[in-house]
Parts: sequence; structure tokens; C-alpha cells
Amino acid sequence: KEAKLLAGGTGPAKTTDGNRVLVGANVEFVEELPLIAECGAEGVGLFRTEFLYLEDPHASEEKLTALYSKVAAEVAPQQVIFRTLDVGGDKLVEYERELEQNPFLGWRGIRVSLALPEAFKKQLRAILRASCHGNVGIMYPMISGVAEVIEANRLLAECREELVQQGVNVCSKVQIGAMIEVPGAAAIADLLTPHVDFFSIGTNDLVQYTLAVDRVNERVSELYQQTHPGVLRLIKMVVDAAHRAKIWVGICGEMAGDVSLTPLLVGLGLDELSASSPQVAAVKHAIRKLSSKDCQGLVEKALQEGDALAIHKLAQAMAVEKY
Ligand code: PEP
Ligand code: MG
Repeated sequence: KEAKLLAGGTGPAKTTDGNRVLVGANVEFVEELPLIAECGAEGVGLFRTEFLYLEDPHASEEKLTALYSKVAAEVAPQQVIFRTLDVGGDKLVEYERELEQNPFLGWRGIRVSLALPEAFKKQLRAILRASCHGNVGIMYPMISGVAEVIEANRLLAECREELVQQGVNVCSKVQIGAMIEVPGAAAIADLLTPHVDFFSIGTNDLVQYTLAVDRVNERVSELYQQTHPGVLRLIKMVVDAAHRAKIWVGICGEMAGDVSLTPLLVGLGLDELSASSPQVAAVKHAIRKLSSKDCQGLVEKALQEGDALAIHKLAQAMAVEKY
């Protein structure tokens, strides 16, 4: 493990034919931040704000600003991408709400934020206020349509204006991203690109919604296949749409940290992989051993293969051969 940590290093990860893939870390707690530098992560590709929220659901804008500013300052000069609150689904909250029959298909993520604009704006204002302490991005979870992104951006612009009027320092270059976790959003990725600076594909949810397999139900866990060709084709659609629009696209689901899948993700053309910090060094090591050209060949084959396990084996064979 130590050898792998060293292999992560602080430098960038480039394929043998010179393609740079940024490797970030997924973070939930402020206490994890020292690990980021240690593991060689190039910033935080996903900061799950739910955990800070659960510690103090009624935190004031000032308190949130202080917390997010600390995170931004610690990660600077690298970027930290704060995901706005993604409550609902498997993440319990104390929002008073009726029990839902299908919480994963119900009131979660951006839907909650847009329904409670004052709470959403409190979080957005805190992130904007933190933006002058580092390099900050914002992304919206569970986007399913263009209107949601437009409305979220409208509220964000409102917050920015209010802060400027109050004389509060706000950084002008805050990147805005949409998480792609819903198959319908993947299918309209080209229509979402005018409204964002990047996409981050949340494969944990994208797999569950694409295959209609509950991500926390053990009974159907065998059907939860990250290498299902339907999932890979959707990822490819999103990557192609992003690149046509000249914006970057990453993956922040668990797939990003699984080195047996790195050949597929490099071949699909992802610009960024954000994994949990213990996996970062191994992912960088894997990227450095692969050629994009070989990986693209692998993806061509994989996209014509009907079986998820067969695709996984193809990827794994390349991984075993190269690292
Ligand atoms: C995902 O869905 O892949 C993701 C990163 O979000 P979460 O796991 O927090 O739902
Ligand atoms: Mg998700």
C-alpha cells in the first residue's frame, strides 16, 4: 500500500501517449482534508455537503461560510467542487416529509433545493462567500432536466447580486457543474452544456437508475453492473456532448476509484476521475501505465459487447497486463 501511495506522487497523471487525466478526491468531512495532499489528489472533485449539514441542519450562513472557507483555503490552489445538498434517497434527513414509497425516485437532491429556495440560497451564498478563499466550484445533484439547471443558476445569480450589493467579496470565476446521474439527463447532455462549465457523472446513481436496480438492495446487487453496456453507452454520450461543447467531464462515482475499470474510463475520454482518497494513488498509477489509444480500442470492443461481465473481463485483462 505504501508503494502505491508513493506512486501517486504530487505530479499529474498522464497516459503513455500524453493524455492528462485529472485525479481528484471525494471528501465528506473537513477532517479528511490533510489526506488529500498526502494521497496525491489534484483537488476535491466531490465535496458531499450532506455530512456537514447533518452535523448541524440549522447552521447559519456565517457558520457555513466559515466551514466552506476553511475547506477552500486548505485545498487551494487546487479546486474544490462543493456539491449542493443531496438529501433524500439513502441519505436521511430531518426535513419533515411524508414517508415516500420510492425515496430514490422522490424528493431528493436538486428537487429539495428548488422547493426550498431560502435554504438553497443560504448554502449558495455560503459557497460564494467561501469562493474568495480558494478555487471553488459548485455542482447540482440529481439534475433531470434543463429547467432545473436554469432555475438553480438563476438563484445563484440572485445570491451573487445580493452579496455584491452588500459589499461582500465574491470570486468571479466559480465553475458551475451538473451531476449526470439520471439517464434522461445523460440523453440530453448536449442541451445542458450551454448552462454549465462541466459535468460530473455520478455513476453510483446513474447505474441504479439506468438498470432499475436499487443501489442499496442486496437482493438485486448482482444486477448492479457498472460495466453494463447501457451504462457505458450513456457515459460515452455525455463525454461526447461535453467535448463537442468544449467543457470538461468527470466521474465521481465509485467506478472512478476501481482500477480494474480505469482502462475503460480512459478510453471513454473522461477528463477527470474523482475517487475516495485511499484509491487516488492507485488510479494515478494506472493512468500512467495506459495508452489512450489502446484504451479507445478496448472501448470500441466493449461497446459492441452485450454482457457486463464480459466487458469487465476485457478491462481487467488490460489492467492486469499493464499494472
Ligand atoms: C453518485 O451517485 O455516483 C455520487 C457520486 O453521488 P452519491 O454517491 O453521493 O449519491
Ligand atoms: Mg448520487
